[in-house]
Amino acid sequence: KPMIELAGIKKIYYVGGQEVAALAGIDLNIKQGEFAALMGPSGSGKSTLMNILGCLDRPTCGSYKLDGQEVANLTDDELAVVRNKRIGFVFQNFNLLSRISAADNVALPLIYAGVGKNERKERARKVLDAVGLGDRADHQPNELSGGQRQRVAIARALVNDPHIIMADEPTGNLDTKSTKEIMEIFEGLHREGRTIILVTHEPEIAACASRQLLVRDGLITQDAGKGVKMDVV
Ligand code: ADP
Ligand code: ADP
Repeated sequence: KPMIELAGIKKIYYVGGQEVAALAGIDLNIKQGEFAALMGPSGSGKSTLMNILGCLDRPTCGSYKLDGQEVANLTDDELAVVRNKRIGFVFQNFNLLSRISAADNVALPLIYAGVGKNERKERARKVLDAVGLGDRADHQPNELSGGQRQRVAIARALVNDPHIIMADEPTGNLDTKSTKEIMEIFEGLHREGRTIILVTHEPEIAACASRQLLVRDGLITQDAGKGVKMDVV
């Protein structure tokens, strides 16, 4: 059974009295352990789709089953519970708090999950070690490079042991060397059996994934494996 099952997902916005279909009826299954890259031109619907997949937003209509549970009609509070338990997020701009240490940033989701202080510390150390930043645990974000900041953000996304990791342009603000390091981390997580969904504009980034999905005008117009060249632009 797929971890993610989307059927007939539409998202309609009303702009100046006109309907805009940001998503026009998406059917998509993603299995546990898949590493899927979402590509597509600006305005094609990638962010809207990620927001729905990440339980940050609801579709206008259609069904979204996550681990067999219908989540398309949940209230905001119910969606927040699903999100906090099952999904880890990585953003283009890292979204770290600047006044606290790397370890405290990583431990934040555990505070919301009601985990005690000692266990929070221990688990934050462990995931920071896993992304190769054990020796930077006490540094604040402004004492770290962009690539290191993104590794802290990945550790934060992992600390709750989520079912799915969602990354929106995670290398968009990084240089070539850091980009390579970050993609190696995602590839390692994929080998460990994690489910990853990543949005990117860059075919070289998408090529790291095991599955490439092309979004165009609110629909998935190509669904291909690793190594296939997609006609993005
Ligand atoms: P957002 O998702 O925040 O609306 P956009 O998708 O519009 O942002 O674009 C983010 C950045 O990526 C912008 O700097 C834009 O110029 C660039 N960009 C958008 N579409 C493409 C594309 N098809 N190929 C390459 N770069 C793109
Ligand atoms: P992408 O991430 O691929 O750049 P988006 O999902 O951001 O695409 O946008 C898809 C379409 O939906 C675009 O036409 C965009 O203008 C429209 N759209 C997105 N968000 C809103 C919104 N909050 N209100 C109105 N239209 C929106």
